[in-house]
Amino acid sequence: MNAVNHYDAIIVGAGPAGLTAGIYLSRARFRTLIIDEGVAGGQMVLTHEIANYPGVESISGYQLSNIMKKQAKSFGCDIKTNVSVSGFDLTGEVKEVVLKDGPVFSANAIILTPGGRSRTLGVTGEDNLKGRGISYCATCDGDFFTDKEIIVVGGGNSALEEAVSLTKYASKVTIIHQFDHFQAFEHAVEEAKSNNKIHFIMETTITAFYGTEKLESVDIKNLVSGEIRNFKTDGAFIFIGYVPNTEFLKGKIELNKWGEIMVKSDMSTNIEGVYAAGDSTAKRFRQITTAVGDGTIAALATSGYLNELKIKQKQNSLA
Ligand SMILES: Cc1cc2nc3c(=O)[nH]c(=O)nc-3n(C[C@H](O)[C@H](O)[C@H](O)COP(=O)(O)OP(=O)(O)OC[C@H]3O[C@@H](n4cnc5c(N)ncnc54)[C@H](O)[C@@H]3O)c2cc1C
Repeated sequence: MNAVNHYDAIIVGAGPAGLTAGIYLSRARFRTLIIDEGVAGGQMVLTHEIANYPGVESISGYQLSNIMKKQAKSFGCDIKTNVSVSGFDLTGEVKEVVLKDGPVFSANAIILTPGGRSRTLGVTGEDNLKGRGISYCATCDGDFFTDKEIIVVGGGNSALEEAVSLTKYASKVTIIHQFDHFQAFEHAVEEAKSNNKIHFIMETTITAFYGTEKLESVDIKNLVSGEIRNFKTDGAFIFIGYVPNTEFLKGKIELNKWGEIMVKSDMSTNIEGVYAAGDSTAKRFRQITTAVGDGTIAALATSGYLNELKIKQKQNSLA
């Protein structure tokens, strides 16, 4: 293996989890590479305003991404963006990461931080109005809809629990759900039904989002009659599932039935020397702060692993 292409650690994914891990490892003088198939920042770059990152009252996701990237680079971390991984060998003491149309990189440890994405409805106007009235995260954006009338799309536990939490801000929350019943725990259904700010439109789906600067209305289609009508709203929260970006890890590492990476409390996976952090792991709460926390733990555990490995290799060379 070309020594230039060998790192102590390679991190796959330059979101907040990966960048944090990069900051810690580089600062601890481990030769570290972060690779990302997109730009550095991950889902943060999709975020218009971040108001819940401690120590920073309000910042755009783009700015926070740039600060984290600059900080990692200042400690010597290499970052390669817009490169895709085409293959892996995670099994041996030296792991390999093969890039599409590019070189092979090797490392003694790997941290997987590919994040994930909320499931989208995939209808007209959704892409354009994301972050401008359409949200997938009540904790992140609920406060921006104080005294507004909003809709929540979905009928599972997340949709109902988040609808209840959004009534702290919004004056009216209308839940739009495709079936005549919910796929949620009875207590979640009861709580939503007993909240007088929550209204329900059942057996209905969204077929389009409209707005120029921000979301103004949606088209809703009654799935029984087929009738489509326009419905005015200030905001739409969509909770129809979450997809971890782990398709490329199938068969390489232990995933649960939802495709989330299984990790222990130190963020180690079922493969020695391979760690994971952030939204792609099996966990309940997905935020920048939780990704940053996971990234820290993964980096510290990786540091310990690399130090032990160095001692072991030295002992073997003396033996
Ligand atoms: C619109 C929106 C608004 C949000 N607002 C907030 C907020 O206000 N506050 C808050 O705390 N949280 C917010 N969140 C959630 C927060 O952004 C995420 O929890 C956090 O970014 C997760 O970090 P991560 O590093 O685990 O993954 P991500 O941010 O998803 O980053 C993963 C990175 O890995 C890369 N990647 C994926 N697969 C591969 C591959 N095969 N090879 C190479 N690279 C790969 C991706 O390109 C991406 O850059 C918001 C999310 C969204 C979508």
